[in-house]
Amino acid sequence: MNYILFGPPGAGKGTQAKKIVEKFSIVHLSTGDMFREAKKSDKTISALMESGKLISDEIVVDMVRKRLQKDDVKKGFLLDGFPRTLNQAQALDAMLKAENIKLDAVFFIDIAHEDAVKRIAGRRVCSCGASYHIHFLAPKNADKCDLCNSQLIQRADDKEETVKERLKVYDAQTKPLIEYYKKSGIMVDIDGARDEKEVFEQIAAKIEA
Ligand code: ADP
Ligand code: AMP
Repeated sequence: MNYILFGPPGAGKGTQAKKIVEKFSIVHLSTGDMFREAKKSDKTISALMESGKLISDEIVVDMVRKRLQKDDVKKGFLLDGFPRTLNQAQALDAMLKAENIKLDAVFFIDIAHEDAVKRIAGRRVCSCGASYHIHFLAPKNADKCDLCNSQLIQRADDKEETVKERLKVYDAQTKPLIEYYKKSGIMVDIDGARDEKEVFEQIAAKIEA
């Protein structure tokens, strides 16, 4: 069971990834989470992320290659936020071929840019990894995490100007992957505009089929 979750920023990849890995007992590989950890000690990564730009293919591919060599991915994995460029997709294919690993599906969760902006504007996250939305997925107590009661914060790259840049970067560099994965025959279109439960049902039904 090896999958990719793909789609614009704010589409709901992280939200769905948490539910999928729990239900199907596979490993969540989020390059965004890996870089949020790395940026604590790396100013270059921090600056790129906060301006809404991508980290270089070389760094990302190297990081994912090392991660895919760990034993836990043998039980299955869900890539979230990777690949994001054609170079990354081609490098991933080569990596998987070399390791004799098969991808079962690429779930393309799509939403309109205006919805992405609304979702990102209301996103609040906790240092424990939990994520909320002030209207669509509100915590029980405003600004406090349901799981650990810590103060929720807004991601540094969720500021309006940065979000505009991230959507531009998505259109220019990541959108071409739609054609790439369509050709591979394993892409599954998911309507990300539905509510969180319905989106999950669409994905789970495909995995179970
Ligand atoms: P991504 O990982 O694709 O950037 P997230 O999963 O972090 O997106 O979701 C972005 C924001 O939208 C979060 O605040 C999340 O709570 C909210 N969200 C996720 N899925 C839905 C949905 N189906 N309907 C409404 N809001 C959603
Ligand atoms: P995400 O959490 O997926 O929205 O990613 C947050 C940020 O991390 C992105 O805006 C990029 O700066 C960086 N990042 C995450 N994944 C990648 C990737 N595959 N390639 C390049 N940069 C990435």
